[in-house]
Amino acid sequence: MDPVLTELIDMSHYLGDPARGYAILGEGNSSARIDENSFYVKASGTTMADIDEHGFVKVSIPKVTSILDDPDAGDDDVSRVFKESLLEPGETRRPSVEAMLHAILLQVPEFRFIGHTHPAYTNMVLCSSKAEEVATGRLFPDHIVSLGHKSVYVPYVDPGLVLAREVRKRFEAFVAEEGVLPKAIFMQNHGLITMGSSPKAVTSCTDMAEKASQVAVGAYAMGGPRYMAPHEVERIFTRPDEAYRLKSIADTE
Ligand SMILES: [Zn+2]
Repeated sequence: MDPVLTELIDMSHYLGDPARGYAILGEGNSSARIDENSFYVKASGTTMADIDEHGFVKVSIPKVTSILDDPDAGDDDVSRVFKESLLEPGETRRPSVEAMLHAILLQVPEFRFIGHTHPAYTNMVLCSSKAEEVATGRLFPDHIVSLGHKSVYVPYVDPGLVLAREVRKRFEAFVAEEGVLPKAIFMQNHGLITMGSSPKAVTSCTDMAEKASQVAVGAYAMGGPRYMAPHEVERIFTRPDEAYRLKSIADTE
């Protein structure tokens, strides 16, 4: 088996372990880049906890992202493009509805693995009125060490095409403003995305995001959180010498 697929299966089992509460039943999805133009993504209707090599489809990155800039695209177009983007001859399974979102993030050379989950504490936060301040605030030093000084926050929109466009817009704005790549994306009333160069990077960021969310839920119950001040966050956060510049992923073919 392709070693990338073996790594992706192991990562998916970790994220889908029911004991962790990150994803149950058909929740969540995961992906890994194969090369510049292709990636594996969880097929629709599969379960992270017991997924095997038959639970993933091989998808073309340029093909599946080709629909993003078509303002007239509807559900039928998404179905057609999903079908056309399948790279294995005779493939009958459908990629996850969030395949476009994975493809967008995998166009960033530093990201090779992506994990999307609905962790219980993280979703307590994301389904509350405090979602944005918790997602972008920082509560303790290891929170910063694992997840960086700030994360991307995405207000609720329709899953699928509209969500993929919104994530792309917010991700690009984050990189332009902060000069670094984010490690996590928090989606209101939905869940978490973590990105990294390895499965370990993805699972560690998911673990820490869930821990920080649990701490936040407790801190709100204890009279309210005390977020770290910007200068305290900057003391812990090691900025790279040079600002990261993202070649716009909007027009990557
Ligand atoms: Zn989801």
